[in-house]
Amino acid sequence: MRQPIVAGNWKMNGTLESVRELVAGLKAGVGEVNAAEVVVCAPSIYLSEVSSLVEGSAIKLGSQDVSNAASGAYTGEISGAMLNDFGTQYAIVGHSERRHGRGESDELVAEKFKAAQDAGLIPILCIGELLEEREEGVTEQVCARQMDAVINAYGVESLKNSVVAYEPVWAIGTGKTASPEQAQEVHAFVRAHVAKQDAGVAAGLRIQYGGSMNAGNAAELLAQEDIDGGLIGGASLKADDFLTICRAGG
Ligand code: PEP
Repeated sequence: MRQPIVAGNWKMNGTLESVRELVAGLKAGVGEVNAAEVVVCAPSIYLSEVSSLVEGSAIKLGSQDVSNAASGAYTGEISGAMLNDFGTQYAIVGHSERRHGRGESDELVAEKFKAAQDAGLIPILCIGELLEEREEGVTEQVCARQMDAVINAYGVESLKNSVVAYEPVWAIGTGKTASPEQAQEVHAFVRAHVAKQDAGVAAGLRIQYGGSMNAGNAAELLAQEDIDGGLIGGASLKADDFLTICRAGG
């Protein structure tokens, strides 16, 4: 039985004041979430503050990125160990806004995945196709390639201590959600792809859906057999909406 996991990706949004308000709202309602693990991925500058605010609650902390390096002359980068110092448990790696917006390669994302694990963090590995790739009919090849960058470098076993987020790029921040059937199809493909190497790892792997999931469409998406939670952008900035999604996850 895979425990659903719902993670909010706040991206580069908020102020110290709005972050405090949002966490207060989440803390007030998180007790009504039964089964889902609840994670908030705050901007790095707010991790310390959010870490203190969520202490003693069921809310876990994640970062939106992590350096592939452990330490050294990497101006502007933040290491997994530094994130760990502030109670961060999860690290998003390979978000499309970094793959496509900042030119991160599959190899670099795989290195970040490993760096997160080496520092004791659980990577949330984002994968997903561009609109033109879906239209060309290569969605499965793209997802397989992005998964294989990690599997070939660090072994299928490395997926044991990770979460995968399938996020079709055309659905992120666009209001265009993949239909439950479209999403389920890709999730089942990803699980089957991993199962070719290790059925046990595949059966235990939590695969989130991300892409314009909101309070209105979450229940239907999360009801799909291979969808084990959500990675939520815009709707995670409103406590009520995010909590509704978390409750839909169990
Ligand atoms: C995301 O950024 O991971 C995301 C899914 O964003 P949104 O929910 O806004 O589409």
